[in-house]
Amino acid sequence: MIKLELIDGSIKEVEKGTLAISVAKELSPSLAKKSCVAKLNGKLVDLKTPIEEDAKFELVMFDSKEAFEVINHSCAHLLAQAMKRLYPGTKCGVGPAIEEGFYYDFGVNGVVTVDDLAKIEAEMKKIVKENISINHYMLKKEEAKEKFKDDKYKCELIDAIEDEYVGIYEQADYADVCRGPHVISTGVLKNFKLLSVAGAYWRGDSKNDVLTRIYGTCWNTEEELKHHLEVLEDRKARDHRKLGKQLGIFMFDDLVGRGLPMWLPNGFIVRRLLSDYIMDKEYDLGYNHVLTPALGNVNLYKTSGHWDHYKDDMFPKMDVDDESYVLRPMNCPHHMVMYKSQLHSYKELPLKIAEIAADFRFEASGALTGIERTRAFYQNDSHIFCMPSQIGDVFKEVTQLILDVYKDFGFNDYRFRLSLRDPNDVEKYFGNDELWEKSENELRQVLKELGVDYYEAIGEAAFYGPKLDVQVRSAIGHDVTLSTIQLDYQLPERFELEYIDEKGQKARPVVVHRAILGSMDRFVAFLLEETKGVFPTWLAPVQAMIIPVNLEFHKEFADKLALTFRKNKIRFKTDYRDEKLGYKIREAQMQKIPYQLVIGDKEVESGLVTYRKYGEQAQTTVTIDEFVAMLVKANSERL
Ligand SMILES: [Zn+2]
Ligand SMILES: [Zn+2]
Repeated sequence: MIKLELIDGSIKEVEKGTLAISVAKELSPSLAKKSCVAKLNGKLVDLKTPIEEDAKFELVMFDSKEAFEVINHSCAHLLAQAMKRLYPGTKCGVGPAIEEGFYYDFGVNGVVTVDDLAKIEAEMKKIVKENISINHYMLKKEEAKEKFKDDKYKCELIDAIEDEYVGIYEQADYADVCRGPHVISTGVLKNFKLLSVAGAYWRGDSKNDVLTRIYGTCWNTEEELKHHLEVLEDRKARDHRKLGKQLGIFMFDDLVGRGLPMWLPNGFIVRRLLSDYIMDKEYDLGYNHVLTPALGNVNLYKTSGHWDHYKDDMFPKMDVDDESYVLRPMNCPHHMVMYKSQLHSYKELPLKIAEIAADFRFEASGALTGIERTRAFYQNDSHIFCMPSQIGDVFKEVTQLILDVYKDFGFNDYRFRLSLRDPNDVEKYFGNDELWEKSENELRQVLKELGVDYYEAIGEAAFYGPKLDVQVRSAIGHDVTLSTIQLDYQLPERFELEYIDEKGQKARPVVVHRAILGSMDRFVAFLLEETKGVFPTWLAPVQAMIIPVNLEFHKEFADKLALTFRKNKIRFKTDYRDEKLGYKIREAQMQKIPYQLVIGDKEVESGLVTYRKYGEQAQTTVTIDEFVAMLVKANSERL
């Protein structure tokens, strides 16, 4: 007999060699049914594993995170079995579970497209119905290679295994080289869906064969699967690349260049309004806005250190006359030079230089993602020059600004990450211990004072100073770093910046780099995904659509209305096309225009307007003055 320690601490004695599933059944038949795999001494094992010695024993339920991985990996095997049946001679690469499902890479004779997924799913369902037992055994490497001799990818994988034996999982006509664990039989894999097909290089190397990668997802219950598919649909609807096109926000063209966004009229309006918004906020806090060129002399970046440390992310230099220029990757150096051009007294500090500035970075073409990651973008940037004694106050003001802005946009799901230096590796960092310790403590103190929820990341500071990043959780589940505050002791040193202190002596300021909206481009991408393109009224490129029912009788009224709107800076469009009313209304909805005004006999006779707000069914009738006042208020108060 051997002893099993259960999770409640009690001991259960069983015969040596008893299968995990038998133990489960003895404990409780209903529990056994809910079990996906077991854990022996913390290690996941199949339910069919015989238990050979004393161990800690635990059952892993189907509704757990660990089981999710197991059923998804088992579903990858199920997919491979179906592929081999449907496409004889299919070779199998790897088929792991991933965060939200699984994939499998196949070497298929012929082409598999999304249109084939239904057929493959149907075959998988058949195999589920057959309820095939899934069995595990070990083979010597040579035997395994013999077994998989028709599959060059599997042979490569076997070669890469260091042990003498390799694990095999077999379900009837299909076997795989695998560590497992797996579910007990194909019958339990009921709630799955194949999602997409893509090409993938064998082992991720572009010199290798391109395999057919099929993605899928498998869930414990039908409801969970249904919910997940809804989430995926929602993400698609939020894709900023799709929305940007549909709403006329931006465009790309290879003739212009990859990763170089062009902002269309609607997009430009959004950009201008966002710029005004953030510059107004900054103005209220005493920032000084400037404008500097997108090019700089290479020597500028040699002085700043970017040329040595950041060159790979920059575009190559251009030689003209006796100078070499580069497109700037960031704005700090220009602002340093601007500060240095004048003598500063401590009384002027903190001095805040701000700019919405064009920057250029060389991103690999594979990394380019709509306006989220581009090669040309605009940064909502500022550099604050202050005395070391002012760090706490400056940091507090900027953090407060971030909180205000997020409140205005309704962002609730975000985390502050305070990046500190690694105290065991101080040589890596610029500046002395005292400076670091003092400033790190001050930043911590400010966050506590503001009641901000934050976590500390030791060793994540920049080499030139500690920093605070704000990661916002986007509607499609990405963590995006929108805002950042970074202390910098080094740039003032490199540019030899000075101010005259209280004693009339020269002293070195500290620089605080800060970005609130961050890249304006990326911010718009983020907003599109958050709002599904339904911007708040103040930010909507077109705020009202005027649709006359009949051009002959109602256009005059519509024209009058348009003129009133124009005078009051309400952004509107008129739809005077010779199309059916229903069609025009639907199109205005597609454009996600906040207010729709249909002009018919009733309006012309009464002089009133009836509007319908986007996303609402109700119609409201008001005087023209009331409607105008409502939108003027939305614009001035940014509602
Ligand atoms: Zn496997
Ligand atoms: Zn900077």
